[in-house]
Amino acid sequence: MSEKTIFEKILQGEIPCKPVYEDEYTFAFNDINPQAPVHILIIPKKKIVNVAESNETDIEQMGRVLYTAKKVAELTGIAKTGYRLVMNNGDHGGQTVYYMHCHVLGGRSLAWPPG
Ligand code: AMP
Repeated sequence: MSEKTIFEKILQGEIPCKPVYEDEYTFAFNDINPQAPVHILIIPKKKIVNVAESNETDIEQMGRVLYTAKKVAELTGIAKTGYRLVMNNGDHGGQTVYYMHCHVLGGRSLAWPPG
């Protein structure tokens, strides 16, 4: 069995985090190295490695992650001004933790394109 990722350890309470939101399907917590005034990570409770490795049985979980992004944006006050959702996928995508997560970034105007 492959080693647990840091996000599994967070989900299982082995590593502390600053939780923002939780429901039956998803868990959201503050990024430890924020790139914007609001920087939250949302993970599905059932592990998916990334978009590339997802399959049809993951569709509901993935949709729930996006819907949680909407809720988190409302909870943190960035819904009105706008925000960015990012899912880094694989090496060139900049993924460092191989447990699917959606970054919610906001609280300032964000540049485009990303680097
Ligand atoms: P990615 O590069 O898309 O895989 O994003 C991984 C994110 O996880 C980065 O933004 C890290 O800052 C964040 N991160 C790593 N360790 C922790 C942790 N212990 N608690 C919260 N966020 C973390």
